[in-house]
Amino acid sequence: MNKDIFICHASEDKASVARPLAACLSERGLSYWIDEAEISAGESITQKVNEGLKVSKFVVVIFSRAFMSKHWAKRELWSVLNQEAKSGKIIIIPLLVGSQTEVAGIIDEFPLLNDKSFLLWDGDANSVSNAIQNAVLKVQGASPTCVTEMHSCGHCATPFMHGVHVCLGCQGSIKYGLTQRERMNIRKISAAIIGMLSFITMVHFPSYSESWLGLEVPMMWGMGFWSIPLAAILALGAGLYFEARAVARKALLVRTFR
Ligand SMILES: [Zn+2]
Repeated sequence: MNKDIFICHASEDKASVARPLAACLSERGLSYWIDEAEISAGESITQKVNEGLKVSKFVVVIFSRAFMSKHWAKRELWSVLNQEAKSGKIIIIPLLVGSQTEVAGIIDEFPLLNDKSFLLWDGDANSVSNAIQNAVLKVQGASPTCVTEMHSCGHCATPFMHGVHVCLGCQGSIKYGLTQRERMNIRKISAAIIGMLSFITMVHFPSYSESWLGLEVPMMWGMGFWSIPLAAILALGAGLYFEARAVARKALLVRTFR
């Protein structure tokens, strides 16, 4: 399993389809295996696909006239696709290549393809790569919602995609999480808490002097010296905790400001 995609193709389709597709997939950060993946006449496609699955997670099979003319039995395609259906995972992505009549002919010969979603090659490696990338992300469980998470504007209810910063409906600015001003307010409250806790801690622990605010306090070994750093650490910890909690609570907020 060292590659993402194994591209299974007839040698006739290498220059026109397999190579441009491979280049596009690699631009998207998907690794591929192509050179040994050619199907030659009389070769078993089941064997080829299984070989591919040993080194990769997905197999893109390029169905074209040239591919169809190789002498592999139709039952084999059945067995490969059945194997996949049993595993319950999309591992084979058929890519149909040719003119409309050629594609219709391929589907006529393999009605099984109708039950499977296949991709059509229209000469644009980009759109096919996008579809393959989506299929890979979906199977790998990268939730597709995080790619296309939708919200709707609180002012005008216009839907927008996560990451957009201006509402197209009301031109309001969309903010994720806390605004700068809200952050500053929380910091002010934290600072107040830090100050108060420092004061309380210092009053309650004797310091360098035996007398604290006019009161006689018993001096314990070490306690006096450590009271100030102790007060600072306790107070700072409490203040930072409060700030972090407040920020985390509001982190998922998506709001429109006008
Ligand atoms: Zn709006």
